[in-house]
Amino acid sequence: MGGQLPARAAALTFDDGPDPAVTPRLLDVLSSSSVRATFFMCGLAAKNHPSLVRAVAADGHTIGGHSWDHRPMIRLSPAEWNRQVNDTHALLEELTGSAVRWFRPPWGESDWSTRRRLRQEHIATVHWSVHGRDWTERNPSVIAELVLRGLNPGAIVLLHDAIASFDSPTGIGNRRQLSQEPTLQAVDRILHVSRQRNLDLIPLDELSVVRLPSLDQPRWRRTRSAQRRSSDIGLPEQLRQGQSRRLN
Ligand SMILES: [Zn+2]
Repeated sequence: MGGQLPARAAALTFDDGPDPAVTPRLLDVLSSSSVRATFFMCGLAAKNHPSLVRAVAADGHTIGGHSWDHRPMIRLSPAEWNRQVNDTHALLEELTGSAVRWFRPPWGESDWSTRRRLRQEHIATVHWSVHGRDWTERNPSVIAELVLRGLNPGAIVLLHDAIASFDSPTGIGNRRQLSQEPTLQAVDRILHVSRQRNLDLIPLDELSVVRLPSLDQPRWRRTRSAQRRSSDIGLPEQLRQGQSRRLN
């Protein structure tokens, strides 16, 4: 595809935080290996733990938006758009001093008009190419192996430093039912194996600079199908098909 990736680089991403029980420990694990990652944060969690947002930014990680309270980004009213996108991003920008450039829709669910509007605001919608199923899987070895299977150059890895509750009224209000201890242990192993594979783990801000084909921003301005392809960055095939069905 003619991309200009650094020799071997991939991106770890962590969703749904920040979380006071997990995020500080995750920051320690990452910094002890000099690895920087990307955190997709919910506005409500950021509002509850502003010092953690600042700590993540201070360590050089990229911070993206993940809605205010973990709602699907489908047919949002103007009021919901303000809450899920504008309020979240304004808060993150206020806390970090940096513009939000990345958005990951909760459950990977968004419609075409949402992604187009984000693009118009210079925000890329980014999914993932591999995940550790750590929203249900409790065995750290299984989480690590699921990730390591697909941890190739250009991979975007989905993991969680918190878990959004699927049934609470606010989406993340009761999200401490699951401990993310297994994820922390899995990250240790993932960092170890990535070193053995001579694979650099870098934040999305840097992966984007290297013209990974699926992040080729100028393509967004060409055809509608190219727009769709580019906005489905890293989306697994079955989800991509599901998303197309929803769009049609
Ligand atoms: Zn999420």
